[in-house]
This record gives sequence, C-alpha cells and structure tokens, in this order.
Amino acid sequence: MPPPSVIAIDGPGASGKTTVGRILARKLGYRFIDTGEMYRALTWLALKEGIDLSDEGRLARLAAGTTIEIACHDGTGYNPVLVDGVDVTSAIRSSQVEAAVSAVSRVPRVRQALVAQQRALAEPGRVIVAGRDIGTVVLPQADLKVFLLASAEERARRRYEEQTGGKRQDYGAILAGLRRRDQIDSQRSLSPLRPAEDARVIDTEGLSPEQVANLILGLIGEG
Ligand code: C5P
Repeated sequence: MPPPSVIAIDGPGASGKTTVGRILARKLGYRFIDTGEMYRALTWLALKEGIDLSDEGRLARLAAGTTIEIACHDGTGYNPVLVDGVDVTSAIRSSQVEAAVSAVSRVPRVRQALVAQQRALAEPGRVIVAGRDIGTVVLPQADLKVFLLASAEERARRRYEEQTGGKRQDYGAILAGLRRRDQIDSQRSLSPLRPAEDARVIDTEGLSPEQVANLILGLIGEG
C-alpha cells in the first residue's frame, strides 16, 4: 500500500508538530507546510504597521492584500518565510509575535484568506501539513490525521531548551504564554484547536521527535 499522500498534524504550541513534520518529510520525500508560519507572518506585519489587534476589518484587509510565501520544506536546509518579499523567518519567532498571534488568527476573514492559500499549497499531494485545524477544517479529506499532545509543562520545557543565544525567555514566561495561546486557540468559535474525530491522538510526553516520527511511520506501515 502506498503511504498516505496528505498527512495532517495538529496540536497545541510546542507539541512537536514542526520538528516531527520535518523528520517525516525527509524520510518520506514529501513537502512540509507549517501553517503556523503564515499566522505568525501576518501578525508580524500587523504589529509592524501598528494595527489595533481588535480591528477585525483592518486585519482582514491586511490578510487579503499581503503575499505570504512560505517555503514548502523538504525537511532540510534554510526555509525562508517572506512577507511581501521581506525575509521574516526569525522575526516571526519573537515573543512579541508569539503574544499577539492568537488574537490575529481568531479573526474569521483572516482564516478564510490563509486557509485558501494552505489548500492550494497542499493540492499537489505528497505533503505533510501542520497546524491547529488541518484535520478538522483545512484538509478534512487528509489520508492520515495525527494530533500531538503533551502537557503544558513539557512543552514549555522543550521551548525553553530550544532557545539559542540572544534574549532568552524564562521558563515561567514561556509556560504562561503557551497556556494563554492554548486557551484562545481552543476557545475561539471558528476552527478551534481540537482533534478531528478520526485523528490518531499521540501522547508525546517524554518522547523525542524521532520517536514520535517513528510512531507515525509505524501507523502508515513505513516504520
Ligand atoms: O504552530 P504555531 O505555534 O507556530 O502557531 C502559531 C499560532 O498560529 C497559533 O497559536 C494559532 O493561534 C495560529 N494557528 C492557527 N491555525 C493553524 C496554525 C496556527 O490558528 N492552522
């Protein structure tokens, strides 16, 4: 049996979607799309333009009028994120963007604009797509849906350890930020964070990204 052509990976912040998705992309020779990068990129632009994050109309117009390019990663190398041609790859990981992104991503017309781009990117298949609503809304026809879980404490620990150089956030601030995003992302009315009914839920507590990727490969008979 050929491996599934479209694999959806959903889960809360720092649950390992991106790292695991990249490993799978490399092993299967698929493309990897991290939809969180799009919401982060738009948030970066909204902050740069000083847009009031409660102004849904302006955020919607910004989403409709901005070209966000994300590299479809093949699991290796540098995969830039461009907003109207500007490389924002590292800027979208800042704590300012992280604190604001859930307010931007809850706006229905922002989601509409970005979901359309996500579907177009996934259309050719042989792709792994990570996010919050991929299995439920963006690609409900995905051949395999995975939902990654881990406690907020473990996710905060992973994020803390991932930090390199520069200005580091302390563990408590990371934990509080993740909890806040979890709450907004799971309670918004449109496309809340939750597993699809047919998703395979994987508890990643205490597992390395390679172990999680191997579990997923096992599910599709490629392990
Ligand atoms: O996955 P990541 O942590 O980069 O996502 C950043 C934010 O983007 C999430 O907290 C969420 O608000 C939003 N997001 C979303 N739907 C997706 C992917 C991300 O709402 N499919």
